[in-house]
Amino acid sequence: MKRIVAIDGPAGAGKSTVAKIVAERLGYTYIDTGAMYRAVAWKTLRHDGAVTDAAILHAVRDIDVQLSAVSGTLHVTVDGTDVTGEIRSPEVTHIVSRVAALGPVREKMVELQRAMAASGKVVMDGRDIATNVLPNADVKVFLSASVEERARRRCKEMQAKGYDVDLDELQKEIAARDKQDRERAISPLRKADDAVLIDSTGLSIEAVVERILELCA
Ligand code: C5P
Repeated sequence: MKRIVAIDGPAGAGKSTVAKIVAERLGYTYIDTGAMYRAVAWKTLRHDGAVTDAAILHAVRDIDVQLSAVSGTLHVTVDGTDVTGEIRSPEVTHIVSRVAALGPVREKMVELQRAMAASGKVVMDGRDIATNVLPNADVKVFLSASVEERARRRCKEMQAKGYDVDLDELQKEIAARDKQDRERAISPLRKADDAVLIDSTGLSIEAVVERILELCA
């Protein structure tokens, strides 16, 4: 049985949904690295004033980000405060790619991510897991889907959480975030040469999960 599963891909491709199920089925720990960058963005927004590089670097300097599973749900705390719901807000989403592009932020998060994976048996999802964080992962998946489908999925998800969202706006926001993630200088979003590409457009969650479990066997 493989011990480290890396799942990368653009926003809304379904990474966290399938990664969580794959981890449950394998009895592995699920690590959502996007939540960690969101945690830094959340802390940046807590301070009054403009979102500047200096404010982001100040927020990350001695941040304590913890991920823990509480009755099947991943909880995120920042300096002891539970921010699980708040890190999914449109305000956090709006600035997170900018936050994640800064070198000191990435260095700190990657160090934490590698430490979390050190004992193995993890499913980690993000943008640079197979290319940078865990290049020796046993299974590498690049999960994608058309931008239209990704926006539709994100729209449903946000509506279910009570947010009033507009599909066109969401599609623009996802496309902008992808562009920023793909074009940044440090560890940009890209498929690792040895990653298996899965296009989830039109596929059920279960079909994607099955495909990844086959790769893990
Ligand atoms: O996965 P999620 O959409 O929550 O990630 C939020 C943002 O965090 C991404 O748009 C990206 O800018 C950043 N991120 C990253 N590297 C990762 C995971 C997320 O840069 N490994």
